[in-house]
Formats: sequence, C-alpha cells, structure tokens
Amino acid sequence: MNAEPGTRVQRAEKQSIEAAAVALRQGGLVAFPTETVYGLGADAGNGEAIARLYAAKGRPAFNPLIAHVSDVVAARRIAIFDHDAERLAAAFWPGPLTLVLPKRPDCGVADLALAGLDTVAVRVPDHPVALTLLKAFGGPVVAPSANRSGHVSPTSAAHVLADLRGLIDLVIDGGLCEVGVESTIVSCLGEPTLLRPGGLAREAIERVLGHPLAAVVAAEETPLAPGMLASHYAPKAQLRLDADAPRDGEALLAFGPAPEFAGTTFNLSPRGDLIEAAANLFSHLRALDTSGAKTIAVMSVPHEGLGEAINDRLARAAAPRQR
Ligand code: AMP
Ligand code: MG
Repeated sequence: MNAEPGTRVQRAEKQSIEAAAVALRQGGLVAFPTETVYGLGADAGNGEAIARLYAAKGRPAFNPLIAHVSDVVAARRIAIFDHDAERLAAAFWPGPLTLVLPKRPDCGVADLALAGLDTVAVRVPDHPVALTLLKAFGGPVVAPSANRSGHVSPTSAAHVLADLRGLIDLVIDGGLCEVGVESTIVSCLGEPTLLRPGGLAREAIERVLGHPLAAVVAAEETPLAPGMLASHYAPKAQLRLDADAPRDGEALLAFGPAPEFAGTTFNLSPRGDLIEAAANLFSHLRALDTSGAKTIAVMSVPHEGLGEAINDRLARAAAPRQR
C-alpha cells in the first residue's frame, strides 16, 4: 500500500514494529492494530506528542486516554491495584478490559494524557502486533482509536488511512481487528463500576467479582468528593478566564507574551504555540493551584486548532461547583 509522503504504511513484521517503536520514542504518531480497533499510539510520557495526537484526531476536547502496556507488571508501575483490580487483570488481560485506577505519583504518564486527573486508565491489549510494539517500546503508549473525532473507529489499516493520511507518521498494517468495538472500561476506585460497555461482557466481569458492577453515579454536574470519579480536572482555585491583566493576589496562567507581573506566573507557551500550550495545560494549572492563590487569571487562548480543546478544559475547570 502506498500512502502520501508523511504517512508510511508497513506490513506488521519484526522490522516495521521496531521502526514503529523508534518513531514513538522520537515523539511520533503510529497507528497499530489491537484486538478491539486500530489505535493511534503516542509515547504516554511525551506531552507534546500527545498534544499532536489530539490535533491529528481533531478532538474538540481533551478526554483522558488509555495507557497501553505489555503486561500487568508494567501496569503496576503506573497504577495502584487493589484486590479487585488484581483479580480482573489476572482473569482478563491481555484482553478488551480497561481498568481505571489511582495513578502512581511517579507513573511517568503526561498530565495531558490523564487530562489532569489523579487516576489512570490502563489496559493490556490481546494482539501480537500491539504486544510486540509495547515490548519493543518499553513503556506505556496511549492509543485512542485511530480515526478523526466523530468518525467511526477503524478496524483496518485502510480505515485509518482514510481518516489520518498525512496527519500521522506510520501505520502498521496487521489486518482486520477481531473484536471491532472498544474495550469495556471498569473503574476500581472503590466499588468496581462499569464506565463503558465494550468488547468484554459485563456478565463475565461480574462472574469474576462475584457480585454486580456498580452503576455510574458521577455525572458531569456531580460535585467532586475524594474517591469519587472526577470526570474532569477541577482546581481548588477559581479561574478568571480571558483576563487581560492579572490583579493583586491572583496567580497568572499566561499564553504568548505575558504582562509584567509580580505574582506566580506560568506561561502555557511564551511563543504562542498551541501544541506546547496543550502539553503544559494541566501541569501548569496544578502548579498554580498549589501556589495557594485563590484565583488564577487566565489569558485568552485563540479558539483554533488545539485551542478549542484547551478552551473547553479551561471552561470546565472554571465552572462553579460545590465542594
Ligand atoms: P478511547 O477513545 O477508546 O481511548 O477511550 C478512552 C475512554 O477512557 C474515554 O471514554 C475516557 O473518558 C475513558 N477514561 C480514560 N481515562 C479515564 C479516567 N482516568 N477516568 C475515567 N475514564 C477514563
Ligand atoms: Mg473512538
């Protein structure tokens, strides 16, 4: 298969998978087959690579991504497993089950991949190409479905190319995906809860647990409480959006050339680059939040390209809520 310059397509074999691991290490975007659908892979630890991934997908919002690893040992390096999580991993990995778990502080997954949350979604895919790639790469790889936002998930290399030709570095063609739907997502942050039905049946999970899965109670409007599932990053400080100039006592989240200011300042991208800004968004918000300021003044970010997703997350972080 021949793609336009910019996107290479290679049949899945030892050499091409090794080349894919190198591309990931260099911050590249690589589509590869899993048993569910084709994933668009990026180094989970590389914020700018992840920003480019969101840009390639054209996602209007930063949803947290699933970290793919080669085995449960690698999963335990990034997430904290309780007894239920251990049992589910033992029963169903590799396979179409994603577990949402507390992240380890040193998990090495970029804040942007987690959308700023303290939890991480992790999975071991059941596909020889995906597993070989993950082993060759040697770290977690985020891999949302390899399609433009709003399009259906791809189950062949041709589907991937139809959507992402010219936008990504490499497609590893490993034939058709068997399952064809996304993974089932279960959170183990307390009672195991079904967050998304998918390729593994609920009944199979409940048989292993010995009891029914809980239903999702945390909606977008639900107040956040410790241990509850936060659907998006929410700082303690108030955010004042589209601020021209910071006021006394505020902290400043700048974008582009920043005004003179004595208070705590973090700049998303002094040169006004939206990829860089996306990569810095959650870590800068966290740093400003821990500075103790009650209000964070946020300079306006252009509403184009990744700016749409950045503004979406800023608006959610600014929304009033109960504590
Ligand atoms: P996909 O596009 O198939 O990679 O889907 C990723 C899904 O995982 C999305 O529905 C996310 O909302 C969900 N997800 C990832 N991380 C988390 C998390 N930490 N907490 C809750 N849901 C998550
Ligand atoms: Mg999808």
